[in-house]
Amino acid sequence: MTAHLHTLGVAALGRALRDKAVSSVEVTSHLLDRLAAHERLGVMLASDPEHALMQARAADARIATGDAGPLVGVPIAHKDIFVTRELPTTAGSRMLADYRSPFDATVVARLAEAGTVTLGKLNCDEFAMGSSNENSAWKVVKNPWDEGRVPGGSSGGSAAAVAARLMPAATGTDTGGSIRQPASFCGITGIKPTYGVCSRYGMIAFASSLDQAGVLARSAEDCALLLSAMSGFDARDSTSAERPAQDYVAALGRTRPEATAGQPLQGLRIGVPKEFFPDALAGDVESALRASLAEFERLGARLVDVSLPRTELAIPVYYLIAPAEASSNLSRFDGVRYGHRAEHYADLQGMYKASRSEGFGAEVKRRIMIGTYVLSHGYYDAYYLQAQKLRRMIADDFQACFGQCDLIAGPAAPTVAWKLGATSEDPVANYLADIFTLPASLAGLPGMSIPAGFGSGGLPGATTAMPVGLQLMANYFDEGRLLHAAHAFQQATDWHTRAPAGVAKGEAR
Ligand code: GLN
Repeated sequence: MTAHLHTLGVAALGRALRDKAVSSVEVTSHLLDRLAAHERLGVMLASDPEHALMQARAADARIATGDAGPLVGVPIAHKDIFVTRELPTTAGSRMLADYRSPFDATVVARLAEAGTVTLGKLNCDEFAMGSSNENSAWKVVKNPWDEGRVPGGSSGGSAAAVAARLMPAATGTDTGGSIRQPASFCGITGIKPTYGVCSRYGMIAFASSLDQAGVLARSAEDCALLLSAMSGFDARDSTSAERPAQDYVAALGRTRPEATAGQPLQGLRIGVPKEFFPDALAGDVESALRASLAEFERLGARLVDVSLPRTELAIPVYYLIAPAEASSNLSRFDGVRYGHRAEHYADLQGMYKASRSEGFGAEVKRRIMIGTYVLSHGYYDAYYLQAQKLRRMIADDFQACFGQCDLIAGPAAPTVAWKLGATSEDPVANYLADIFTLPASLAGLPGMSIPAGFGSGGLPGATTAMPVGLQLMANYFDEGRLLHAAHAFQQATDWHTRAPAGVAKGEAR
């Protein structure tokens, strides 16, 4: 059994644990061995195998008493942007090289209470700024489908780890696409819920009005299991949504009265915005997505033409608002209260300057400069205020669409994963690639990416077929419907079960 343990997703593993077909200690050691054997993928920034095994033993004891929820004993790992007491937290930055948090983020604490075992902390772009994970101060993450390619970002470590079957699921955060885009690039399922569904307490802030925690896993069902445990109101986050706890697993089976066994999505209207299928979209990305939409139709859904006319504007709007908030959030890293302090300086100003110059990487500095500029007295009205107005209009456009449909579908990204190094010198190229994830982020809406086929994405030198992700978006707090539709699709297709060569078939480790 052990040789195949890593092929089990969250739901299947939870069942095997409850049936005592396997112990948490067994599966935890198996995955720790696999992580060690796959170090070259660069997914892990910190781990404490002893502590993980201790949690696993505690989980086994809990299962032995018969008190076992669906996540007891299931090993996962957290994006290194969530603070943890037991493990270091760096947010992918030199600035926090030696930082230890005195507390656990709410998401971390809730998943621990649900019985998950923490395998470690996952690599990410510095302070979650990036689309390729190449902004991590520590190491590169490789895409397990083609190790010469990026995993996407900023939750690249989470996505690569799940795709390589090093763990059944991981946490991530999404400010402008950082769950959906890496999920798409790595051929896995990722969900970013409505802003406010998961507590931001202990999630190191990038852009507070956009940051949201979520899950990267292999299926919608597995996402539902984790999201049910980690979401819900938290008094320690003033923007946490005051709603009763949700059972997203129950939502998977919640069909409409008109649904039939063959057509579980009967009655569901899926909006397809024309702006999400521009001429420039890579041909084989488009054909994979169209084929998936046809599958949704077979399942009973009806496709509706809709329009999100300000899609393109999401890029300049996001790249003003996110840096503005980042420049404010990152002012706390001054060499006094947190993190790195320079060794050599003449006076207080000099210490701030030297500490920040040494601690932050190039992309973070770029955003701090843009952010402070657009917030400065003479430019506030021209940039930041205009961006805020457009942000509202983008959100209004979505509401107009949701008058005509229940879900909105499109690509998660305009291409498949690109080659390592291909855009690292060109920040704007990275920004432009976020076009399809930014609108939902700015509106605060929930979004998912689900595996929907393969393509070379029209990228130069693409010989390997790389995963393509279909993005599904829903109205506020409609995660249940989103997960239900994704689950129905995954019951009828097998894209989400595909794994990089050699990984799924229970290779030696
Ligand atoms: N790629 C986007 C950025 O660089 C989104 C990042 C995110 O969602 N954390 O800001």
